[in-house]
Amino acid sequence: MTVWDDLQGQAPVVAQLRQASQGEGLTHAWLFTGPPGSGRSNAAKAFAAALNCEQDDVTLRGCGECHTCHTILGETHSDVTFVRTEKLTITIAEARELVAKAGDRPSTARWRIIVVEDADRMPERTTNVLLKAIEEPTPRTIWMLCAPSPADVLVTIRSRCRPVTLRLPPAADVAALLVRRDGVDPELAERAARAAQSHIGIARRLAQDAGARERRLETVRAPLQLRGVTAAIMMAEKLVKIATDEADSSNVERDAAEKAALLASLGAPDTGTLPPAMRSQLKQLEDDQKRRAKRSITDSLDRTLTDLLSFYRDVLVIQLGNAVDLVNVELRGELEEYAARTTPETTLARMDAVNTARVRITTSNVAPLLAVESMATSLIQK
Ligand SMILES: [Zn+2]
Repeated sequence: MTVWDDLQGQAPVVAQLRQASQGEGLTHAWLFTGPPGSGRSNAAKAFAAALNCEQDDVTLRGCGECHTCHTILGETHSDVTFVRTEKLTITIAEARELVAKAGDRPSTARWRIIVVEDADRMPERTTNVLLKAIEEPTPRTIWMLCAPSPADVLVTIRSRCRPVTLRLPPAADVAALLVRRDGVDPELAERAARAAQSHIGIARRLAQDAGARERRLETVRAPLQLRGVTAAIMMAEKLVKIATDEADSSNVERDAAEKAALLASLGAPDTGTLPPAMRSQLKQLEDDQKRRAKRSITDSLDRTLTDLLSFYRDVLVIQLGNAVDLVNVELRGELEEYAARTTPETTLARMDAVNTARVRITTSNVAPLLAVESMATSLIQK
């Protein structure tokens, strides 16, 4: 089992990275792009392992079996750093620390590697701190940046990086991955992969969490009961609640685990009040967690609206007379009935309304509920 096995449906990328890890076309800065869920960071991680793999024969690099491959895939290798801006925003101080780290020689591995996930989410001033280090890297350091598309990162950075372009894998490949890697039942895996529209992380969550499946189904069915303004207001409230529940269910556990880990690392007493120094560290963590929670609700609402969009997408597919590949197969009867009552033009206008709401929620400061209400009112069935 090599490090490349989990990169389903990405044969051209695997070929490119394998070649580079054998020394052909290797460079110091890489930009991994592809739609969310295409496995950008997994590809970067596999590449990092292959570059540092202990095999003498270069064609076997990325064996997935040596200690170095294992620790890199497990994210515990000291020479390979993963930066996740989706988790918490990177501060300038942290960016400077990264730059300092990038200047160090690797301690045991061939290469020091820094993987920046969601490079599109770094504030411009943070990116500027990294720029010089990426422009003039030290000889043993490799940067790997990940973003949805090249246009999402500053052109000054983009022009220094070699592009690696991932595509969204076919649903069958995602299903196969869930079966093999996570032991999911094949039929469930297939349904989850299709419902997630090939987003690997979401497909996995849908396959493993019955609550997430139920929330999704509730979202896609929402347009069926949408008659009149009152129903629209109720639908908006419901969608925002579904998104909030979804975000909470992934945050609560992680927040608690982080808090426990921090207290343990500070050597905090089991009972009684914390000394002031520890209290301020804890406060810092809680502030970061609050910021992250806000962001994850926005993300989750965007996904909820993407699910909603799949309803109209299916309606359109039926109206255009090509109902072979429905995302929401289990709703076929209801979708067909709905499709018969409207026209493709109306469906397209409704899809536009959903997309407008998504843009407003992710890029402006409008209250999410307001944006969703205004969307819901334009989705009302005549
Ligand atoms: Zn190896």
